[in-house]
Amino acid sequence: MAVLKDVKRLVVKVGTSTLTYETGKMNIRRVAKLSSVLSDLANSGIEVTLVTSGAIGVGVGKLGLCARPTDTQGRQAAATVGQCELMFMYDKFFGEHGQTIGQLLITKGDVDDPVRCKNLTNTFEKLFEYGAIPIVNENDSVAVDEIVYGDNDTLSAIVARLIKADALIILTDADGLYDADPSVDENARLIPVVDVIDDELLKVAGGSGSNRGTGGMVTKLHAAQIATKAGVDTIVMNGETPQDIYKVLEGRQVGTFFKSRR
Ligand code: GLU
Repeated sequence: MAVLKDVKRLVVKVGTSTLTYETGKMNIRRVAKLSSVLSDLANSGIEVTLVTSGAIGVGVGKLGLCARPTDTQGRQAAATVGQCELMFMYDKFFGEHGQTIGQLLITKGDVDDPVRCKNLTNTFEKLFEYGAIPIVNENDSVAVDEIVYGDNDTLSAIVARLIKADALIILTDADGLYDADPSVDENARLIPVVDVIDDELLKVAGGSGSNRGTGGMVTKLHAAQIATKAGVDTIVMNGETPQDIYKVLEGRQVGTFFKSRR
């Protein structure tokens, strides 16, 4: 069994399907649990960053739209509404545990520009110094096709690389990576450890994912590729039970572990 390095700096990514119900409304119980676990980890001395999706999904629910808009402007407008609601909820739930949070909305252009990128890392470092938890999303309302990451799996890996995290935990609506699609193949087995992400594995992951967020398993593998190459151990696990993050940090087997290459 691969062993997780001692984790002092952790990035956790949570997707729309974990944060919301099919109705597009927040899954309050999940958010409450997640905030409690992350606040507790921060209390224990771990520098935690949360990368959150859900702005568009929650915005769609709050605006009472019957579906996710298909046009860019529609999604961007929905994101502005949903992002407020998300941060309101996080502030409330993290606040219950005495934990302060800060919001960072990032575009690919910010990370690609050396000066803006340096400012960004400085802000992360200062937030850690202040004991606040940075909560990150893509700046959906300004980013368009050429300058977007497009999915927060990739964004979370970029953030983990940027702040030199020890581990990245991607919470999703599946238990991890399977060797076949578990929704159609009852013999599908969870892959506990992945040493190398190759084309064969990308093929296995193809197609899976829910329709409320943008990431399927393939984007998680791409994220794991970016993160592990940068020395960040990566775990893809079910977000239904955020308290399992404790097990991961104790080195126990949960989800799929992608071993870092440094
Ligand atoms: N940034 C998008 C949002 O907050 C999510 C992208 C994704 O689903 O990965 O709605």
